[in-house]
Amino acid sequence: MRISRGRNGAPSEERGPTFSGRVWADPVLPGADGVVVNDVFFEPGARTNWHTHEVGQVLLVLAGEGWVQSRDGTGFPLTAGDTAHIPAGEEHWHGASPGSYLLHRAVSIGQTGWLEAVSDDDYRAADAGG
Ligand code: MN
Repeated sequence: MRISRGRNGAPSEERGPTFSGRVWADPVLPGADGVVVNDVFFEPGARTNWHTHEVGQVLLVLAGEGWVQSRDGTGFPLTAGDTAHIPAGEEHWHGASPGSYLLHRAVSIGQTGWLEAVSDDDYRAADAGG
């Protein structure tokens, strides 16, 4: 058994080229049998690239507002208290809405497969309901 405490004093890590806009991620539970837990903070308009999760992912929305969208165009608004499950292999992105930051806790299982950036057209399509 292992207990991972909250903030450990390390500076928040700003994420790079697999995101658009400014995004910070704090490790909550670093790798444990293929499960990684991160708190991820997106500035308004910021989002992940398109990507997949080898086994799946659960997003727990802690604050703010945002979107999650799958490649088939289905988009869902996210707000504090919501939980999203992304099944294994489903191409998707998640991020903040244009007018709000988004803070979610991401429980990611298995490897993440990163793809291309989400275009502004695809981003706007989520806002329009997919
Ligand atoms: Mn994801």
